[in-house]
Amino acid sequence: MPNKKTDLVILGTIALDDIKTPFGSVSSVPGGSATYAAIAASHFAVPGVISIAGKDFPPAQLVKLKSRGINLEGLSKADKTFRWKGYYEFDMNEAKTLETKLNSIENYAPEIPLAYQSTKFLLLSNIDPKVQIKVAASCLKAFVVLDTMNYWIKHSRKKLTEAMKMADLIVLNDAEARQFSVEVNLVKAAKAILRMGPKYVVIKKGEHGALLFSEGKHFSAPAYPLEEAKDPTGAGDSFAGTLTAYLASQGKTDEKTVRKAIISASSVASYCTEDFSINKLIKLNKKLIEERYDIFKEIRKF
Ligand code: AMP
Repeated sequence: MPNKKTDLVILGTIALDDIKTPFGSVSSVPGGSATYAAIAASHFAVPGVISIAGKDFPPAQLVKLKSRGINLEGLSKADKTFRWKGYYEFDMNEAKTLETKLNSIENYAPEIPLAYQSTKFLLLSNIDPKVQIKVAASCLKAFVVLDTMNYWIKHSRKKLTEAMKMADLIVLNDAEARQFSVEVNLVKAAKAILRMGPKYVVIKKGEHGALLFSEGKHFSAPAYPLEEAKDPTGAGDSFAGTLTAYLASQGKTDEKTVRKAIISASSVASYCTEDFSINKLIKLNKKLIEERYDIFKEIRKF
């Protein structure tokens, strides 16, 4: 059985990021797909993390994760933390990578606590697909959500394809869906990915919302009309973390529940962009998330 307190398991990176946006810049701030996804998820359920941090990752930041009730039993230690350096121009929909230093995740052999292996919900967030495959192969009872990014599509397409075949729901942004499927049209891209076996494909379109595709069904979620976006880093990971945690909190994966999960995920992701790094995400609460969920309902009515 999973740890009594763990409702979903999240694999991903723990990172130190250097970020520049039109609204400022920060360096060596906490980031990584697991960090964002787990904090976002913690507003809905109790996540257990599988990741690796270096000695240079500030212990105070791990304390912050623990203070959100996040289970860190699956955290490995390395010398140096994964580092990502990127920037955004005025169109903040696209992150431009300046440098990726794999450090801790080079040759990373994930430690998967026995308690996690019977989890019913697993998020394989953005990390080397080799590691995604290992973790998915150890959690055979799970509904598997997979997220990735251009780096792995470019450097590890074959392994990524293998990992994607193990997923029940795949989340990608529009550019990644096009890059992976080699289709310009997003409907064709989604269909090509659906043919690989997942039940659902979610295509995020940044400030333009998200699309859900499944066999014979389609749902289009609006984006929150945000005025305060400062740093989109982690919005995608927060989206995937919330989506998986919402499903775990409901114990269901039918299409209607996935639609609601997408709206909750859009709410949390919109907050994430309002400040740099995890600053806003860590301070969120259920009331604020629900406020935006209700606004989403309102802007959909006609
Ligand atoms: P996103 O939600 O897509 O904005 O994710 C941003 C986070 O992804 C940053 O905090 C980075 O540290 C992390 N990241 C960047 N590149 C990679 C990569 N190749 N693999 C895993 N995580 C990454």
